[in-house]
Amino acid sequence: MADKRFRIMNYAPVALKNLFSKPVTTTYPAEPFVYPERSRGHVDIDIDDCIGCGMCVRCCPPGALSVNKNAGTWTIDRFDCIACGFCVTKCPKKCLHIVPGYQEPGGEKTAVTYTKSPEVLAAEAKKREEMAKKAAEAKAAKEAAEKAKAAEATEKA
Ligand code: SF4
Ligand code: SF4
Repeated sequence: MADKRFRIMNYAPVALKNLFSKPVTTTYPAEPFVYPERSRGHVDIDIDDCIGCGMCVRCCPPGALSVNKNAGTWTIDRFDCIACGFCVTKCPKKCLHIVPGYQEPGGEKTAVTYTKSPEVLAAEAKKREEMAKKAAEAKAAKEAAEKAKAAEATEKA
């Protein structure tokens, strides 16, 4: 009996607190749901910062990601994503984030594709062109130097 009374005394503060506090339940969806700050909602990307390295694709356990460097696209199948956050930790450009808010339910599995802005795509294409030009110039200079060296060796012989 004494043991039972002791247990009731233990619960009394909690019962009193609950009696005078607001209900913990919310009237969702009438009221918008406020996600906890650290909730793992979904993966988001700053697509213009992505370099298309594919690190996120390689580390994704369910294979929910794909990337096309030349097209400047990054695709996620949100129905496959388990929100583990591996891609976020592996991304060298820190352009992936886990943000609050869950995906909407759907009847079909669909992937979402993000594409870089036309300005960034144009700048990257220009950079690639310049690099290719520089590489071609360096190759031509090397070949010319080798030819000159070979000609000099023939002259000496
Ligand atoms: S959070 Fe995990 S499962 Fe989702 S895309 Fe990133 S690595 Fe894949
Ligand atoms: S790891 Fe980051 S930079 Fe690399 S492809 Fe994925 S999102 Fe882009």
